[in-house]
Amino acid sequence: MVGPARHFIDGEFVDGVEGRTFATLNPATNDPLTQVAEGGQADVDRAVRAARKAFDTGPWPRMAPADRAKALTRVADAIDHHVDAIALMETLDTGIPISQVRKGQIPRAADNFRFFAEMATRMTGETYPVGETFVNYTIRQPVGVAGLITPWNTPFMLETWKVAPCLAAGNTCVLKPAEWAPVSAQELAEVIQHADLPPGIFNVVQGFGETTGAALVAHPMAQLISFTGETTTGKEIMRNGAATLKRFSMELGGKSPVVVFADADLDRALDATIFGLFSLNGERCTAGSRLFVEEPIYDAFVDNVVRRASNIRVGGPLEETTELGPLIHPEHWTRVSGYIEVGLKEGARVATGGKRPERFPRGNYLEPTVLVDVHNGMRVAQEEIFGPVLVAIPFRDESEVVRMANDTRYGLVAYVWTRDASRAHRLAAAVDAGMVWINSQNVRDLRTPFGGMKESGIGREGGHYSFDFYTELKTVHVALGAHHIPKMGTGGQP
Ligand code: NAD
Repeated sequence: MVGPARHFIDGEFVDGVEGRTFATLNPATNDPLTQVAEGGQADVDRAVRAARKAFDTGPWPRMAPADRAKALTRVADAIDHHVDAIALMETLDTGIPISQVRKGQIPRAADNFRFFAEMATRMTGETYPVGETFVNYTIRQPVGVAGLITPWNTPFMLETWKVAPCLAAGNTCVLKPAEWAPVSAQELAEVIQHADLPPGIFNVVQGFGETTGAALVAHPMAQLISFTGETTTGKEIMRNGAATLKRFSMELGGKSPVVVFADADLDRALDATIFGLFSLNGERCTAGSRLFVEEPIYDAFVDNVVRRASNIRVGGPLEETTELGPLIHPEHWTRVSGYIEVGLKEGARVATGGKRPERFPRGNYLEPTVLVDVHNGMRVAQEEIFGPVLVAIPFRDESEVVRMANDTRYGLVAYVWTRDASRAHRLAAAVDAGMVWINSQNVRDLRTPFGGMKESGIGREGGHYSFDFYTELKTVHVALGAHHIPKMGTGGQP
């Protein structure tokens, strides 16, 4: 049912130069789902050269932004047209429940193309008049070839989050998708081929991080690297890209706090806490994975969290009623379950979940899990688990919760629940996070900057911030008259 995932180079689906393949697994069974081309250095080189040729001699970077926008809108339309088919592939490949993929992630991918297509038509420069002597102005130009390296969680949407602004700005690119979720990139390449974009502007090389990804990072013709993934990988990529002085955008891990004060709308805070951690199988970079609850309501609120978590419908990801599906890969299952063991050894208690559901002897299923008796210094409170595991910690007052929220190497997002407006704004300012939601779940407007502080990332994407990364800002200085030019080598006065 699922076709092979191949490389897509210069407008054509191709096998690897060395012909090697690997199997990707269905997370619900761990049976092989399909074969995937395994890219080596030669495939990366071929793809980067195709992208470079499209940049140097193809129409794409020279097109009027409005024409690029029309082409990218065709991609958005094609995604909308094939939502059901793409959602099915994404769910088979990732184990994320079909209802969340079909209603959320795939339509969002189409939105990304439509939004950045329109943004491209609004790109402007600035002028700097200097009296009657000069006018200076800036123009934004595409940079060249971008290497786009993406993770396996919500792969289709995250790929479009990079590809759409990259192409909208007039660049060309090579996408290296995650080896645990390679099918989405095949889907994206099919959609792009169908939308009839010029060959070579969008290329895919499938394969592993340490080989295929590393070859892309090291390639001297790739000038930009936009990376989303783990913090440790981001550091490695920056080290490897230094030799060719890459420009980096880094969207990395998180261990984000949810802070619930006693005066909050506790019903809504409860809904958002549960959804924010357990949707997308808990494999969400912006998951609110550290729950801080004010002491007077801690017991009651956490009881409700535990009750709701234990009621979450775990099931086959293709079932419409499933709320939590299998984790991406057996290795990830072992890693996430390992954290529950670590928590127990550290003195935490499993209030609900903690093991494989009995109904699912196969596949990477794990019960929704809430750990209590946790303190902020424990590894389960400090390290990104990236699965359906929530830790709950009580706090006494505002200053204590700010201190604990910030006592982590990460700083991606924070969620604050309180009816005290002044306190909400104080928290928003005080907490180390690139993005803060007040009395809200994670609702994003595509115009807003997205990115993290500390070890959660470098740079911001979204809205015009994406164009800061994907364009060169060039300043042009124009003399309007005869300004003074010192004369050298004339033997006279300077
Ligand atoms: P990962 O770092 O293991 O892999 C991400 C990508 O990098 C994959 O395509 C992988 O093949 C590639 N890669 C690995 N080593 C490489 C190397 N040496 N050189 C080049 N490429 C290499 O991450 P993952 O496990 O796929 O994804 C989960 C992580 O992603 C979590 O930490 C999560 O928080 C993070 N994430 C962050 C955001 C964000 O916007 N901040 C969004 C989604 C996921």
